Amino acid sequence: MKRIYFPEPFRIKSIEPLKMLTREEREQKIAAAGYNVFSLASQDVYIDLLTDSGTGAMSSDQWAGVMLGDESYAGADCYYHVQENAKEIFGLPYVQLVHQGRAAEKVLLPVLLQGKKYAIANMHFDTTRAHVELAGARAIDCTVPEALDTTKYYDFKGNMDVERLEEYIHELGAENIGVVIMTITNNSAGGQPVSVENIRKTRDVAHKYGIKFMIDAARYAENSYFVKQREPEFKNSTIQEIVRATFEGADCFTMSAKKDAIVNMGGLIGCRDKAVFELVKQRCISFEGFITYGGMSGRDIEALARGLKEGIDENYLRYRIGQMEYLAARLDEAGIAYQSPVGGHAVFVDAKKLLPHIPYYQFPAQALAIELYKEAGIRACDIGSYMLGNDPDTGKQLEADFEFTRLAIPRRVYTQSHLDVIADALINIKERAQEIKGYKIVEEPPILRHFTAKLAPLE
Ligand SMILES: *Cc1c(COP(=O)(O)O)cnc(C)c1O
Repeated sequence: MKRIYFPEPFRIKSIEPLKMLTREEREQKIAAAGYNVFSLASQDVYIDLLTDSGTGAMSSDQWAGVMLGDESYAGADCYYHVQENAKEIFGLPYVQLVHQGRAAEKVLLPVLLQGKKYAIANMHFDTTRAHVELAGARAIDCTVPEALDTTKYYDFKGNMDVERLEEYIHELGAENIGVVIMTITNNSAGGQPVSVENIRKTRDVAHKYGIKFMIDAARYAENSYFVKQREPEFKNSTIQEIVRATFEGADCFTMSAKKDAIVNMGGLIGCRDKAVFELVKQRCISFEGFITYGGMSGRDIEALARGLKEGIDENYLRYRIGQMEYLAARLDEAGIAYQSPVGGHAVFVDAKKLLPHIPYYQFPAQALAIELYKEAGIRACDIGSYMLGNDPDTGKQLEADFEFTRLAIPRRVYTQSHLDVIADALINIKERAQEIKGYKIVEEPPILRHFTAKLAPLE
């Protein structure tokens, strides 16, 4: 029997034309961009896989909500709507709107970390790490070791190493730890899911030592879908029931709504404790705006209220994760390695295995990203040594654990034909892999160089 991967639970009502450049034009554009995909104009890209954040397609219901958005400064209708939906979905009594995920971190983390030295997470996303450090604390990652082996199957590669967490608490002193954070799905480990069992154990360890437990909930719906597929206790549960089990007993959460709430801008904070929420509201007014709009326009709030519901629809999630599985299955057929099993929002292609003749200091994952653009106008990005950069003390190029070329898939944007173009482009590149050369950096800023550096191909 043929497997049907992802019956789209929608049809297309409005389209956005794409420019189709020739190969010669693409070669000129990428050279003019200094072989940096961040310097390409989006209009010169055919399939844009740079990120799944804020790049989703809204539904006709969300667009209708945009027209109904109430732009009142205080007490707008859409504010009540988002409150109602968020409280129903997550089950926490206090919810604050903010304009995106890092704004939630900026408002909440200093409240949790005041007078503390550490935050421990299954893995901090980069903006979360930055806000832990800005609050004067250090961010410690504590992922299960299974995450490091790209070819080995493991159901929940995003999990917290709970034993190690408890050791850290003993070593560092519970009184010095402000918060234990669970990032779902585990973005930096490849969009890998976390089990509810692991969430419960982590929460219980944090609470045993009187430490607050927070969820970074950017991809909580995708995580819940994986739980339903892989965790026997939940095989007959609804996504809504799994979300409630996930957030049960959590003290607070931050959320970038640009992912699973399928909006272009937005974020949320949830709290269980009234005293914490009072501080959150005060900080929100200073940094984001009055509490009933939190840095958002009413139209965007209404789209968010509706997107929250659409994001936990099981038919949508089956299609969404099915897209990753379809692309991954095509790569399996072609013998192209990636972080396996595939995660919830992206395929992380193992460029070290595809281009074994290019050493880390000639940036194989960046070379593959550039080839994908030349081959088919696909924009992916390097998650490897090129992104990692130089040792700040010695100035020497660091070697990353992985050389990944990340293909992040926007929500409800690309069709199966687009996925076939991606797979076929990778297969063509694999066939001539030996001819592909590495790159050298000709210009770079001291930090976060991958956004603005210029490169040149090696002869
Ligand atoms: C995107 C993301 C954030 C930050 O959200 P922004 O909306 O980009 O500010 C935080 N944590 C995780 C896990 C994310 O994926």
